[in-house]
Amino acid sequence: MLNGKVALVTGAGRGIGRAIAKALAKEGAFVVVNYNGSQDKAKETVDLIEKAGGKAEIYGCNVADFAACGEMVKALIAQHGHIDILVNNAGITKDNLLMKMSEEDFDKVINTNLKGCFNTMKHLSRQFLKQRSGKIINISSVTGIMGNAGQANYCASKAGIIGLTKSAARELGSRGINVNAVAPGFIETEMTGILPESIKEKMKEQILLGRTGGAEEVADVVAFLASEKAAYITGQVISVDGGMAV
Ligand code: NAP
Repeated sequence: MLNGKVALVTGAGRGIGRAIAKALAKEGAFVVVNYNGSQDKAKETVDLIEKAGGKAEIYGCNVADFAACGEMVKALIAQHGHIDILVNNAGITKDNLLMKMSEEDFDKVINTNLKGCFNTMKHLSRQFLKQRSGKIINISSVTGIMGNAGQANYCASKAGIIGLTKSAARELGSRGINVNAVAPGFIETEMTGILPESIKEKMKEQILLGRTGGAEEVADVVAFLASEKAAYITGQVISVDGGMAV
């Protein structure tokens, strides 16, 4: 289904990003596994993909670095001739109550989660416009829709991603480029693994399906949005949250 396509997935060494990279590769795409700090994990993702018969490579780049993202996009286009799918998955948390949150922690989260999406989209949009095709899928969050105490920086970044997604969809739609966001709920990864049990239990109470989600359940929706089956979907925020935000 994605044979011949090149996909760039940011933060694909672990967690949801790894599951997305595997899902896209399974559909036939060549996957560029972007990482920042975890080169070994990124190599592991490539190994897993190759063992399953897929194709992938690693590329290290901090998505918060505007110039570095430009270099990454340039290098990938020079190497592959085209990029067809961009998944902005890289994200961090630096939780604290608003009153106690440092300016540095606010900036770090916004720069990685929100500006990181802008950085890759800005540099890739010219190529997508030239190709008159492209799929952009940004990973937002249920918290970008609902808000969450102790996560003002994170929720602002994830709500910002929704505005960025809708604006880009409006700008790029006439050239056959689809831009959508996926808003996962409570997914079991390292990011949520550090939460205290009491918070986890409280969050689970809000999930209509009564359970947490798996990274693969998010990845399947991303793979669908990256495919031609989703050709008539753009500017949308698809929740994958077990009904948490209903
Ligand atoms: P995770 O396990 O903590 O993984 C985060 C990923 O982001 C890592 O691969 C990390 O790569 C990458 N990353 C962080 N900073 C980066 C940077 N500056 N440049 C490039 N890559 C960077 O988190 P996750 O749960 O899989 O989350 C993935 C995405 O889903 C995030 O955007 C998160 O906000 C979103 N999300 C998660 C949940 C959830 O419940 N887990 C819910 C809603 C939304 P390195 O290790 O190489 O730095």
